[in-house]
Amino acid sequence: MDRVLVQTNVLKANQEVAAENRRLFAGEGTVVINLMSAPGAGKTSLLEATIPALKGQYNLAVIEGDLQTDLDSQRIRALGVPSHQITTGTVCHLDARMVARALAEFPIQKLDLLIIENVGNLICPASYDLGESLRVVICSLAEGPEKPKKYPVMFHKADFVLLNKTDLSPASGHDLKDLMTNVWEVNPRAVVFAVSCKTGVGLEDWIACLREVIASAAWQSHRGYESSNLCSQA
Ligand code: MG
Ligand code: ZN
Repeated sequence: MDRVLVQTNVLKANQEVAAENRRLFAGEGTVVINLMSAPGAGKTSLLEATIPALKGQYNLAVIEGDLQTDLDSQRIRALGVPSHQITTGTVCHLDARMVARALAEFPIQKLDLLIIENVGNLICPASYDLGESLRVVICSLAEGPEKPKKYPVMFHKADFVLLNKTDLSPASGHDLKDLMTNVWEVNPRAVVFAVSCKTGVGLEDWIACLREVIASAAWQSHRGYESSNLCSQA
């Protein structure tokens, strides 16, 4: 079999497991976020900034994906929220089967929100549906404005895009507007939040939007969940 065919079959098999995951999540009324970015853009920092605002109100859990170590899971557990670490070894993305296996030892009953922090990588995680309700991509302004143009698949499929480290704009010499323009060029329907996980700027809008998504999912869980008309950009 040629390589393209093998790849197509792998993705097709993944899609089937993802559909099962999605049915399971919908049955529980759980909003599931697939959180993706390049390494170091601030995925775990975003969780550390977001979880304290939500955990009193909702049942939350996190699945962490990394090649090695459970360092990120330790950071989440320190917030008093359950976290399950998937270590992928040499695999540079999570797939639906890894998530399904994690769910077997990590029950999601009664969860309002499950956040899956993917392996830091802007390339193949975009191709692997995990059964999530929302795809959230973080892009750090410190990395410059070109990432959406260089990795269009990741940005094209994102529901929400967070532009992090906006506090570094003067130091890095990068303009937030250039990055925003490039995101919308690749994906005009992306809901974009400019934030700094370090200073907290912009996080209240992101957290308010998450609350809206969770409330809407609970309300819609009996007739299927639609993310497309949520959190329309103000
Ligand atoms: Mg991390
Ligand atoms: Zn990969």
